[in-house]
Amino acid sequence: MKRKKLNIVWIILGILMFIIVATLGCIKLYRVKQARQCGILLAFDDYSPDSWTEALELFDKYNVHVTFFVAWDQPTEFCYKALEKGHEIGFHTIGHGDVTDMDEEELQRCVIDPIETFRNGGIEMTSFAYPYGFHDDETDERLLEYYKVVRGAWYYEVHSKADLRHGFVEAYSIDNIHFETDEEFQAKIDQILQELSDNVGAVTCLYSHAIDVGDWCVKPERLEYLFQKAEELGLKFYTFKELQNN
Ligand SMILES: [Zn+2]
Repeated sequence: MKRKKLNIVWIILGILMFIIVATLGCIKLYRVKQARQCGILLAFDDYSPDSWTEALELFDKYNVHVTFFVAWDQPTEFCYKALEKGHEIGFHTIGHGDVTDMDEEELQRCVIDPIETFRNGGIEMTSFAYPYGFHDDETDERLLEYYKVVRGAWYYEVHSKADLRHGFVEAYSIDNIHFETDEEFQAKIDQILQELSDNVGAVTCLYSHAIDVGDWCVKPERLEYLFQKAEELGLKFYTFKELQNN
């Protein structure tokens, strides 16, 4: 009788051990998969709440989270709506001035003080996009005291996810003006996303402004092409903040 009881205890212990090892194994596999996952940081600069609000449904449809770099002096209704949907609010100055040309007073007022204003409104901004992509070592160093990541606007670059934790990263414009036809846009997207998906744990930053026709916008159907292609290739869309805390 005693022996039987002991046997049962051993069996239960064995099962428990198996469950623990299997769970730890699954967690490890999940982490490895997460680390190897490649993706896109998609951003929209300036401030176009109407077209951005209209696109929220499209983002939901493809489970895409993006970062809006707002050039605005305080949190707005759009900001809260975007946050609610899992998007990020980053900053893009008050007044859209060239940061490399700002004196200390202007830098404080247009780039640094708004962090506090937004924080008081419940929005913690940790990402910044340079207007016109104009920056230098000095502005990077100064701004990185306040923001975790500062973003350019000139080049296509493939980054490791670690680059997105802290520092300067480049971004590539997908505005309509750069692609004469939809075919040209699609070919470029195909090329970029294929390169990403051939990589391990790599990300790239793409950006536009309003979601519309017009030179400095991206057409909704072009965005949808990007989302479909990314889905096909198993690429994920990240917000900037998501990778800062990685
Ligand atoms: Zn801008």
